Amino acid sequence: MMRQYELVERVRRYNPHADEILLNKAYVYAMRAHGAQKRASGDPYFTHPLEVAAILTELRLDDATIVAAVLHDTIEDTPATREEIDQIFGEEIGQLVEGLTKIKKLDLVSKRAEQAENFRKLLLAISADVRVLLVKLADRLHNMRTLHFVPESKRRRIAEETLDIYAPLAGRMGMQSLRDELENLSFRTLMPEAAAMIETRLADLRAQNGALIARIERELTQELRARGIAAEAKGREKAPYSIWRKMERKSVSFEQLSDIFGFRVVVDTVEDCYRVIGVVHTKWPLVPGRFKDYISTPKQNDYRSIHTTVVGPGRQRVELQVRTRDMDDIAENGIAAHTLYKEGRVSDNERLERESRAYRWLRRTIELLGEGDTPEEFLEHTKLELFHDQVFCFTPKGRLIALPRSATPIDFAYAVHTDIGNKAVGARINGRIAPLLSELQNGDEVSIVTAEGQSPPAAWETLVVTGKARSAIRRATRDAVRAQYAGLGRQIVRRAFERAQKTFSPDKLKAALPRLARNTVDDVLAAVGRGEMFSGDVVKAVHPEFVPERAPGPAPSKTEAGWFGLSKASRLAFKVPGADGADGSIPIRGLGGDLPVRFAPVGGAVPGDRIVGILTPGEGITIYPIQSPALTQFDDQPERWLDVRWDIEAEHEGLYPAQIVVSAINEPGTLGSIANLIGETGANIDHVQFANKSPDVRDIVLDLEVRDLKHLTGILSQLKASSVVSKVERVNG
Ligand code: MN
Repeated sequence: MMRQYELVERVRRYNPHADEILLNKAYVYAMRAHGAQKRASGDPYFTHPLEVAAILTELRLDDATIVAAVLHDTIEDTPATREEIDQIFGEEIGQLVEGLTKIKKLDLVSKRAEQAENFRKLLLAISADVRVLLVKLADRLHNMRTLHFVPESKRRRIAEETLDIYAPLAGRMGMQSLRDELENLSFRTLMPEAAAMIETRLADLRAQNGALIARIERELTQELRARGIAAEAKGREKAPYSIWRKMERKSVSFEQLSDIFGFRVVVDTVEDCYRVIGVVHTKWPLVPGRFKDYISTPKQNDYRSIHTTVVGPGRQRVELQVRTRDMDDIAENGIAAHTLYKEGRVSDNERLERESRAYRWLRRTIELLGEGDTPEEFLEHTKLELFHDQVFCFTPKGRLIALPRSATPIDFAYAVHTDIGNKAVGARINGRIAPLLSELQNGDEVSIVTAEGQSPPAAWETLVVTGKARSAIRRATRDAVRAQYAGLGRQIVRRAFERAQKTFSPDKLKAALPRLARNTVDDVLAAVGRGEMFSGDVVKAVHPEFVPERAPGPAPSKTEAGWFGLSKASRLAFKVPGADGADGSIPIRGLGGDLPVRFAPVGGAVPGDRIVGILTPGEGITIYPIQSPALTQFDDQPERWLDVRWDIEAEHEGLYPAQIVVSAINEPGTLGSIANLIGETGANIDHVQFANKSPDVRDIVLDLEVRDLKHLTGILSQLKASSVVSKVERVNG
């Protein structure tokens, strides 16, 4: 096991100002916390965080990252708490360790390959600080290096996850060496035979070409030295997994691959890079079309290098990459190569310069990670506010659901399945009961409580943020309305059969569907309910010998109200013309002057409505509720719009005009029960008008006088509940 002083030594090697006391405290704290815990290998558990820290010292990271690595498993696996770590090590380190704890919890959830992309985003979103990801990647690397101790059953899953999630993440962070190692270790676990085959052939090739490679290295270095360039030329081979991937992608054999070996020339300055190219191209013929200058035009992830291929010593094709030490470090270690988190004695100017370079790099990397659709300003200072427009949540079975930010459990439910959304009645977030309108947070585990026979309230449509939820709610609302019509239609049809002294049976009706040109029994019933089809025609379709009596005569006016069998109470609801006791003054503020004021001719307005006044010169002011379609005709005349408000106490005696339309069964007693219902609420009926939709259903347009919006809403919902009514709506002209 690495000793306390060894850890300090490793950090000291690249950072002479390392905080020795802090590193020692972390060492002792983590050792005590993990106590007698053991790893699968039988080693003390504490060796693991130490090795993770050691990997990070190779990347020359700052004290906080190294300490966080030493502590990374304490909160999750030991009695240690965030508070205690904050107290001893400060909040910065506390946050890093907490970030790692959050990610660790996610490791327990199953992750399927198709979700890998989302999962990588989730990692980024909850990491908040790039150093958390660096520790996580080092943690994974050490776990992969010791994977052979883990029971076989778990090995595959861990290797798959590494290949799906962590290796690509390392790649996108520009950490090529880490990515290669993670991939090769996974490759060996997942496809041992293929990996062994490639490793054997690589070894053969090395043995065959070893002398040649050494010769090219030597000739190159000597040639460059002779021209006064201090350069280091090294032969290198492609990693086994990337060879395998290329063989798969291009369907070629190992022997057909030409770029297994290459050479890298590392120099001190950018000028030297171009001088190397000059020397190489003078001495050996270049292969056309292979020259690429990523120094003058860096790749998007800041990869910089010059690539060329020449026909070199022994007439071998030689691929060359030429770069400076700095560029080499960035190409290999990416985000970790940046001096952003590195300490040392540098001038403020130098630090600023380094930081701005690092930020630029970081920003580009993040844009790359975010697939380019992330807004410019989201990276501020060292915090990674990644994917701030998305949240990632889990189903209880571990499926990852990506949603827009401020999504609710309702959106989640519809994202899982439309049926679950439609039946949702409640939610549990991380095991606790939560309102369906809560805002979901990254990493939440959401389970939806459902109940049969539910349909989503129409109001949800405006509360959800996903299009899928919105359209599903709209559809479900439409279906519910249709079911309501069908229910009413069933009553009408039943009675029509009774009048014809027949028995209604849905099965018999089913057989008659072609005659009615409808697809389902429900379609027929809904059509009757909506007034689009006459119930007599339905009876006739089932019993062709039946002769339907046609509709009753023209609709009676309100003077014929008796025909409907109005009771005394309901007759009271009808206002006697001319009995208007009001003094004509309308209690509205903001009118000014003595202009005549009236309510919108169609539909009126009631207290509680948001209202506007429209000025008509020479006539006066008309008060409209804000929802009146009539207002659009004044859109281009802003000078006519008056800002007005009701001037009314909560308790008041006045009555105000409103119009409603009721679709109801067309039979004696219907108007009576409607008028009765309205009369009982204390409203007046000022005028009634009928429009026959069909012999079965009629629309009754009622001009009412009500106290206010609440009163009116109460009337609407009572009417809606009535068995003879299929639909009620307020009308505004
Ligand atoms: Mn760990």
